[in-house]
Amino acid sequence: MNSEEIKQLDKGSFLPTYGRFDVALCSGKNATARDCEGKEYIDFGSGIGVNSLGWADEAWAQAVSRQAATLQHTSNLYYNPVSGSFAAELLRVSGYGGVFLGNSGAEANECAIKLARKHGVEQGGDDHCEILTLQNSFHGRTVTTLAATGQDVFHHYFFPFTGGFVYAEPNMESVRAHVTEHTCAVMIEFVQGEGGVLPLDKSFVQDLSALCRERGMLLIADEVQTGVGRTGTFYCWEQYGVRPDILTSAKGLGGGLPIGACLCTAELRDVLGAGMHGSTFGANPVVCAGAAEVLRRVSRPEFLAEVREKGVYLRERLEKMEGIAEVRGLGMMLGAVPEKSTAAALASACVKEGLLILTAKTALRLLPPLTITREEMDKGLAILERVLAQAE
Ligand SMILES: *Cc1c(COP(=O)(O)O)cnc(C)c1O
Repeated sequence: MNSEEIKQLDKGSFLPTYGRFDVALCSGKNATARDCEGKEYIDFGSGIGVNSLGWADEAWAQAVSRQAATLQHTSNLYYNPVSGSFAAELLRVSGYGGVFLGNSGAEANECAIKLARKHGVEQGGDDHCEILTLQNSFHGRTVTTLAATGQDVFHHYFFPFTGGFVYAEPNMESVRAHVTEHTCAVMIEFVQGEGGVLPLDKSFVQDLSALCRERGMLLIADEVQTGVGRTGTFYCWEQYGVRPDILTSAKGLGGGLPIGACLCTAELRDVLGAGMHGSTFGANPVVCAGAAEVLRRVSRPEFLAEVREKGVYLRERLEKMEGIAEVRGLGMMLGAVPEKSTAAALASACVKEGLLILTAKTALRLLPPLTITREEMDKGLAILERVLAQAE
């Protein structure tokens, strides 16, 4: 099949929920993808921060295919050796006390919300269930995680939304004005990804964490995008000096297969009892076999040090680049605001020139595979430079 045939089949079949770039990808190696005609693309997106080990990583692909040929699914009614050891290893690496595994970021956040509410109700009664989130946040596409998302544009059409969410500006004055006796938890992204790659202020996060402790509210970190090495530490909280009670992780965790994890402290481990939550596909052994390889590689201190170095290199190159007004973000999660044209138009132009790059609001967004090489970065940056020079 050639690219045109692929596009026609796609357009005739799927609900039109996605605005796709004009390219059909057929294969790839590390941070270089190929379209179905063999043209190469440098990848600054990793899907959307998912392919943390790049395209078709050998050890990852082997782990996944071996597991698929051995035991592909058991359901959560039975034990299996792969999912349990992955979960234990994730707890060891993250320092958490318990984990629930689902299939996506939204599903991980749903679990976090249920856990926080059950805990809140147990502590303070049935109306102790409100969750404070931040303006400009993004927490997912289910009806409840849309409600948790602090952006009005997501609060249309699908009424009635789940109640019990309030939205504060990312400052303590606004947070204090929105916290009530009903608030059981606060949910934040350390770096707002979809919101434009906006890191929260460190002192704000520390004050917020102190307020949570003081008032017995749980701190939930949505690390669906910032997690698994993306920002230069395994989880981003390490850089903020606060320890969330609940942490959600997804995108990069599976290396390309669907997984979502809701981690919690040992104290919260037994809040959700048997039958209170579940997922048919959750903790799938094939997915866990791939995720175990991601975990093994990305948690190594040398690997994380390389991510930080590459992040600094990308940031410095972008800061010096003609046509970029502002660079922000952490590690290899970067936003670059262009001086001319729009992020969307520039991203489309980049694809034509052989560079896959994302956008977030008015920023170009870079989430390259964590394994990207210097050579691949340089090729991609050269394309971006050329596209920016032609921008009007
Ligand atoms: C992508 C994302 C989600 C939603 O994840 P899905 O896997 O698409 O459900 C939630 N929170 C954050 C911060 C994200 O970046």
